[in-house]
Amino acid sequence: MNKIQLTDTQFYDYIFCPVKFQFLHIDHIPLAETVNMPRLLTQVANRFFIELLNGEAKSMGWVKNIFDGICNRNENYMDSKKIMEGIYLLNSLYEYCRDSRLQIVDINSPFQISTQYVNIVGRTDAIALIKGKKNKYELFVPDFGYKITNQDETNINLRYTMQCLGFIKTYSKELAGIHILHVRTKQDFKARRSREDYLRLEAAIDGVGKGIQNKIIYPHQNPLCRSCEVRDLCKVWIG
Ligand code: SF4
Repeated sequence: MNKIQLTDTQFYDYIFCPVKFQFLHIDHIPLAETVNMPRLLTQVANRFFIELLNGEAKSMGWVKNIFDGICNRNENYMDSKKIMEGIYLLNSLYEYCRDSRLQIVDINSPFQISTQYVNIVGRTDAIALIKGKKNKYELFVPDFGYKITNQDETNINLRYTMQCLGFIKTYSKELAGIHILHVRTKQDFKARRSREDYLRLEAAIDGVGKGIQNKIIYPHQNPLCRSCEVRDLCKVWIG
C-alpha cells in the first residue's frame, strides 16, 4: 500500500482548518507570507542559533544587523515602535543565551515519521544541550508572543510532540524535555512527552492522511479565523 506523503506544514494546516489546507495545498493559491512580530523575531533567533550550532556566539550588534535586514524587507509592516520592541525582545533573548551559555546541537535537520498510512517529513527546530547534563538534549523554543505561555497548551502542543518524535526517528534517542522561554517575561516552561503522546500524534497523522485522501474538506471555524491567511477567500466569512 502506498503511503500518503505529507509535510509537517500540511499536517498543521489541515488540523487548523481543512478549508485552509485546500486553498494552500490543493488549489495552490499564492498568498503573501503572513507577517507578524513573533514570526520575524523567530527568523532572527534561528539565524543566531545556526551560528551557535557552528560554534560561534555572534554579538548583539550582529543580531541587530540581521533584524535591520528583516525590517527593511518588511518596511510596510514595521514602524519605529515595532522596531524598538523587536530590539528589546532580541536583546532579552541574547542576554538569556549568553547568561545560560546556551549550546545548540541541532537545528533545521530533516526528519521523517512513518505511521500506518502516512509518511510525514519536517525539519527540526532548535535542539539545545541541557546545561550540566552530558548527552541530554531538549527542544528549545523562544516564544516572542504577548500572551504568556500556557503550561496546559505546552503539555499537549502537537508541534512539540512532532519535534520530539522526529528527533527519536532521526537519532534513535529521546529528547529529555521541551523548554519554552517566554522572552517578554523570561519565564521558563518545561514539558515532556511520553509514549502515549506519540501514539496520539501518530493517530492524528493517520486521521489527517485519511481525511485528505478521502477529500474531507470542511470549514473549521475557530477563534483563530481572525488571523487566517485565507479568510478573505473563505465562504464562511464572505457570507
Ligand atoms: S477563515 Fe476560518 S473557516 Fe475559513 S479557512 Fe480560515 S480557519 Fe477555516
